[in-house]
Amino acid sequence: MQRSFFPPQQESPGAPETEPAGESLTTGSLPAAPQCILISACLLGENCTYKAGNEARPDLITALTTPPPPHTAQPKIFAFCPEIAAGLPIPRPRCEISDGDGRAVLCGTSSVQDAEGNDHTDAYRRGAFAALLFAQKQGIRLAILKNRSPSCGSAGVYDGSHSKTWHPDGIGVTAALLEAAEIEVLTEAAALARLETKTRKLSP
Ligand code: SF4
Repeated sequence: MQRSFFPPQQESPGAPETEPAGESLTTGSLPAAPQCILISACLLGENCTYKAGNEARPDLITALTTPPPPHTAQPKIFAFCPEIAAGLPIPRPRCEISDGDGRAVLCGTSSVQDAEGNDHTDAYRRGAFAALLFAQKQGIRLAILKNRSPSCGSAGVYDGSHSKTWHPDGIGVTAALLEAAEIEVLTEAAALARLETKTRKLSP
């Protein structure tokens, strides 16, 4: 499992390992290139949430790191936190998307605010673009992102009222940008379900 907690250009203890050029090429009888997957760092146990905690999912980690069936490549896992990549601190104010979701934030018609009404929209957009750049550089076509986060949520986000009210159709800013770039985004629950039903294959 690769720890790519911060974007490559940033110096950090968790700077990503880089792949030797050409390592993933598939030719002739070589095995297929492993699937590269971007995962919310907090799901892998990194203490990067706004509360300085994590959202570790040992069941998902186990499913992804268990040796694969014969002739199937082990997926390459890249942990990434868009909010930390954007330079936000740990801990940081809890934010929600106001009047819409991540798509509206990217279009400039909605904002990301903390409970005091301070605007953090630019940082959330920055984190989304950092995630997209990283995914494109690594050839990532699939992301497993923590649901309900204003960055990573893909099957619902909070509605901006800071009253824990759920907006089930909403999507976070990073998830919206990755989807717009045709990178598939799964929640942690959806990824686990797919792993269980498709004998550890995450491809659709
Ligand atoms: S931005 Fe995403 S990866 Fe970072 S703490 Fe929030 S949910 Fe986890």
